[in-house]
Amino acid sequence: MKRKHFLNLLALAPAFTTMKLHALNTITSTFEATDKMPVLFLGHGSPMNAIEENEFVAGFRKTGRELPRPKAILVISAHWETRGTFVTAMQNPRTIHDFGGFPKALFDVQYPAPGSPELAQETKNTVTKTEIGLDHSWGLDHGAWSVVKHLYPNADIPVIQMSIDHFQTPQYHYELAKELATLRKKGVLIIGSGNMVHNLRMVAWDKLNTSNYAFDWAIEASDKMKGFILDGDHKQLINFSSQGKSFELAIPTPEHYIPLLYTLGLKEENEAVSLFNDKAVGGSLTMTSVKIG
Ligand code: ZN
Repeated sequence: MKRKHFLNLLALAPAFTTMKLHALNTITSTFEATDKMPVLFLGHGSPMNAIEENEFVAGFRKTGRELPRPKAILVISAHWETRGTFVTAMQNPRTIHDFGGFPKALFDVQYPAPGSPELAQETKNTVTKTEIGLDHSWGLDHGAWSVVKHLYPNADIPVIQMSIDHFQTPQYHYELAKELATLRKKGVLIIGSGNMVHNLRMVAWDKLNTSNYAFDWAIEASDKMKGFILDGDHKQLINFSSQGKSFELAIPTPEHYIPLLYTLGLKEENEAVSLFNDKAVGGSLTMTSVKIG
């Protein structure tokens, strides 16, 4: 058959082409089919949670023990915003200490989990909504390592990060998340890491040690968010900027909230949703975390 005719035939048979590409993908994929992994949103709070012992890190550890062991982890962290979407694709991501004014002990923490260039490529191949870039300069920021270290203290599961495109809408992020759904069936644990209520300018520093202390507006926003999450009313959460004063105060900038939309975008119909670490810190921040599946 002449090449031109062959190409014409392909153009007329998209199903055939798709089937061939799918078969190729299955052959080359490192990530074979597994049971569907749960999805998490983790309220990470202060970087000090990385080295302190408290009820929140106990909650992370308990969650880690209850999960099926993943083949790899993909984290969408509040602390990596870019133009466009990137995934870390290096073999050994560095531990990034992206904060200041904390004790040396926190800067000494290393989380030497390997990366996974294979999962980075798999993620890039999976997403059609945008061209995902392969990044070789980032690593693991504290939004990722300060919580993943409690789930998997041995750092023996590969971790990659996916960045948040700062210039996209909440609806875009929610839809992009849906494209990652197939990774759940390849043993990949997807984690959104941020905080639902996160207003650092309004922290009541004198109340940091008062358990579950929250301003009225923070309680109102948190209760509404949790209601929408448990009711599966994601539309209201995507439209967070139309929810009034309490949401404006809870989400002064969206980067800590957007990872929640990634987690929720991955929820399939009839999947169980549960909350843990559902407490406030310092009046204006909640540690509320979500498990789907
Ligand atoms: Zn943070």
